Amino acid sequence: MPAPPDSRRHFLRQLSLGAALAAVAGPVPAFSHPQPDPMKPADSGKLGFAIVGLGKFATQQIMPSFKDCKHARITALVSGSPDKAKQLAQEYGVAEKSIYSYDNFDSIKDNPEVDIVYIILPNSMHAEYTIRAAKAGKHVLCEKPMATSVEDCEKMIAACNKAGKKLMIAYRAHYEPFNLDAMDRIRKGELGKIKAITSDHGRPVKPTEDKADSWRVVKKMAGGGSLMDIGIYALNACRYLTGEEPVEVTAQEFSDKSDPRFKEVEDNIHFTLRFPSGVLASCTSSYSYSEVKRGRVFGDKAWLDLDPLSDYYEHNMKIGDDKGKEEPKLKEGNQFAAELDHMAECVRDNKTPKTPGEEGLKDVRYIMAIYEAAKKGKAVKV
Ligand code: NAD
Repeated sequence: MPAPPDSRRHFLRQLSLGAALAAVAGPVPAFSHPQPDPMKPADSGKLGFAIVGLGKFATQQIMPSFKDCKHARITALVSGSPDKAKQLAQEYGVAEKSIYSYDNFDSIKDNPEVDIVYIILPNSMHAEYTIRAAKAGKHVLCEKPMATSVEDCEKMIAACNKAGKKLMIAYRAHYEPFNLDAMDRIRKGELGKIKAITSDHGRPVKPTEDKADSWRVVKKMAGGGSLMDIGIYALNACRYLTGEEPVEVTAQEFSDKSDPRFKEVEDNIHFTLRFPSGVLASCTSSYSYSEVKRGRVFGDKAWLDLDPLSDYYEHNMKIGDDKGKEEPKLKEGNQFAAELDHMAECVRDNKTPKTPGEEGLKDVRYIMAIYEAAKKGKAVKV
């Protein structure tokens, strides 16, 4: 099975970095997991995270990123596969008593090493585990999309409020240097008055080849198709780049129903957002494009391109106007580590996260409006 482009690119980057370092300092492992170090008191000040769901994203992107965290460490694992959990616990220095199953998850309340529960499960399970975690007295970081219905999002917010616990949605682009720089330039007026945004997000979903994608084409588990999974990056980007909330959406959907992947969920969905200032956004989302994750902002003075906009490890920015274009050289940063550290700091310093539950709820509301607009074939006010 070929590695997905993100992990392949990451692997190649690790490989070339490893080769470069080996040339000056002897061989280094291409990928090094953090090892427990009893002599390292720095770890003791870090907040403890329980990772719920040891699937592809958790094991390939999130867990390896803890090595770059200043304030976060892994202290518990929750999984339905005891062998996998045991092996990962050894790799990451997690005590065997801090491995939980989905059945005994609630006993995590008695584990003082766990401050925050990070939910990386199929979308339909986010609400149940957020509510159970809050009842267990833990703060919650939850993957996007927040849930598969507005009602579930509201229940998650209410449960965390009732328990007096933080709830943050893992919108990693809000912690990623190129996107942060783009927001800054737009707010400073470098592009002039913003007129329009386009954003395209697509990737081929492969449930037959890749077990990890199988729940993504089941409506009950995913809540929807490409829009819920990746179109949400386009939607969210239009909101954080403008700093505005849309007032109206339109949409068109087309899915080949003879393709077994799209019996229950959508493949292609194109949508527009109209913002109060008059900015018009035009977005596409697909489960059958080859990989694309880009965005372009058009101002009356200049345009700004991010391509990719929402990759795991690689971003490119171009800015242009009538006179020419430039490519600002920015440094890539580990957005996952920045996100984990932000959550830990919010808990430690009692601050509201930059991307709280309310942010996830807004996107789920807009997603539902986009589905409604596609179904009715007319604009929907939001
Ligand atoms: P995955 O299928 O690789 O992992 C899901 C995990 O949930 C697996 O360990 C699986 O065993 C477990 N699970 C428990 N009960 C299950 C059930 N009933 N059915 C199926 N799986 C069950 O999926 P993933 O790609 O890791 O995605 C998990 C979550 O992370 C999703 O909400 C997804 O949207 C999100 N995600 C976010 C990003 C991002 O960039 N922020 C990237 C990928 C995935």
